[in-house]
Amino acid sequence: MPHRLLLVEDETDIVSPLVQALEHEGYVVDQAASGREALLASTKQQYDVVILDLGLPDVDGLEVCRQLRASEFDGAVLIISARSRELDRVVGLDAGADDYLPKPFGLAELLARLRALLRRTSHHGDQAGSDRRLRVDVDAHRVHVGEREVQLTGKEFGVLAVLAANRDKVVSRSQLMSEVWSEGWYGSTKTLDVTIGRLRQKLEQAAPVERVVTVRGVGFRLES
Ligand code: CA
Repeated sequence: MPHRLLLVEDETDIVSPLVQALEHEGYVVDQAASGREALLASTKQQYDVVILDLGLPDVDGLEVCRQLRASEFDGAVLIISARSRELDRVVGLDAGADDYLPKPFGLAELLARLRALLRRTSHHGDQAGSDRRLRVDVDAHRVHVGEREVQLTGKEFGVLAVLAANRDKVVSRSQLMSEVWSEGWYGSTKTLDVTIGRLRQKLEQAAPVERVVTVRGVGFRLES
């Protein structure tokens, strides 16, 4: 099955060459020229990736992103924007975007980002896969796999939240220690190893598709 993308962009100059290029790569591409169109399209069709411009004529792209995340949508969101300051990037990711590509960008760069996102979310497609996926709700301090809640201690949750926020990237031991054990850390990371061990056991039972990988001499990485 080809991957289906939704391109949300109001600048027609950008849209047509981009759609052509993406279709040439084998993607099925739908278009939306406004935020409302995008949200409507996402209720009618499943998308693997939504490529989302921020400057839209009606609903701001960030708001579109938040609404997508609040809905049933479980694909990836790639923001493309001329607002390229670090702050905008952070706000975009906080709104639930998976990646942020500043404009102007080259086609090769966009295609590489898409492939990376699709690798990460490739198990979204089948229901069994998405049921086993881990969802970390930082605000509610809860972790779910499908409908089931995973019971974690405070430290286990803290470690998992940091790893999940940096999914597929290595998080150093010192970063984990300082973010989760900010106080009372006297240089020993043994407590971190114990916590990781327990976390692994719980994840193994609840979410067998998720793994906490040890990166020797550096830290840990959460991957599917
Ligand atoms: Ca725009």
